[in-house]
Amino acid sequence: MQWGVYIHIPFCRQKCFYCDFPSYAGRENLMASYTEALCQQIEIQGFSYRQKWGRPATVYIGGGTPTALPEENMAQILKAVAAYIGMGIEEFTVECNPGTVDAEYLQLLRAHGVNRLSFGVQSFNDRLLRRIGRIHTGAEAVEAVKQAQAAGFENISLDLIYGLPEQEMADLQVSVRQALALDIQHISIYGLQVEEGTVFARQQELGKLALPAEEEAEAMYDYMTEVLPQYGYRRYEVSNFAQAGLESRHNRSYWHDVPYLGLGAAAHSYLEGKRYAAVVDIQGYIAGIKAGTEIWQLEEEPTCQHAMEEFAFLALRTAEGLSAQAFAEKFQVSLQSVYGEVMEKLARQGLLLVEEAGCRLTEKGFKYGNVAFAEFILD
Ligand code: SF4
Repeated sequence: MQWGVYIHIPFCRQKCFYCDFPSYAGRENLMASYTEALCQQIEIQGFSYRQKWGRPATVYIGGGTPTALPEENMAQILKAVAAYIGMGIEEFTVECNPGTVDAEYLQLLRAHGVNRLSFGVQSFNDRLLRRIGRIHTGAEAVEAVKQAQAAGFENISLDLIYGLPEQEMADLQVSVRQALALDIQHISIYGLQVEEGTVFARQQELGKLALPAEEEAEAMYDYMTEVLPQYGYRRYEVSNFAQAGLESRHNRSYWHDVPYLGLGAAAHSYLEGKRYAAVVDIQGYIAGIKAGTEIWQLEEEPTCQHAMEEFAFLALRTAEGLSAQAFAEKFQVSLQSVYGEVMEKLARQGLLLVEEAGCRLTEKGFKYGNVAFAEFILD
């Protein structure tokens, strides 16, 4: 049985100005008790699914900033994963903030079976890094990646953001070149979104957020999507580029309907066709685990229509696209009978390529993905 495990660490040293993820700064006092509760959940729920489905193919520790945890707490979690979820996980990823790791920390991760790192770098430009509230410099990011390589990591991913306030095309080009010079295996690119409740949202209200014009941000997107493949990073999903064979297996499973168990506060799970979310509040999570009460809430048991829409959206994010066979096997109806007209319309607009095996977004479709996805909503 193919399945994955996601483990959420809701701590950060400082809240980045654009971030609306469930993560908190200044809660170091809760790290030890959170670790204890998390290890307990790994032992009970992780082990129970391990017994049911066997060892998962992927484990992903994300956040927040997992590496904001002291080494001692991280070691406890990694030992719990080895004991109750399994050793020798095929793809075991930890998200790292370059400002929170050193050679020793990275060696600890490697020694406990972690074989993939995802660095949130966002830019190598110190002025921009300060402007978006990151805690590290560009040089520290370079150093962290090199230390990871020296520690034996051969599968490293790096995130970059385009469309940052006061960012110019030349800044982005320098950052992309610096990323390429690091000989990493995977690059994720994200366009900045101003999310409600963030520092950037407040700055925008006050007229203090100078974002690049839409055409400029679009030109940055075009630059990245053209240059990365030239350097051997194939686009395999809307935001993700990888060297051949080094695509993120864990993320692929989200897009291809593979079940996953989420552990920790705010973690989401997809199990037997149902979606669950754990309580977001850290103290509520710790108290719930200690008391043995339910910390998951059923978020959604999708109707057949919603399940079809979601299946289509997620598959369309990938380069392989939406498989007619997989759709028919899951829903017992043909893709053509449900989405035939939509596919034809999007193909006429040059957004979708329709083939016998199914359909997939064109380059133009990837760029204007939201237009295409909206058409897949069933009335
Ligand atoms: S380090 Fe990551 S999770 Fe933490 S605030 Fe910044 S973007 Fe958000």
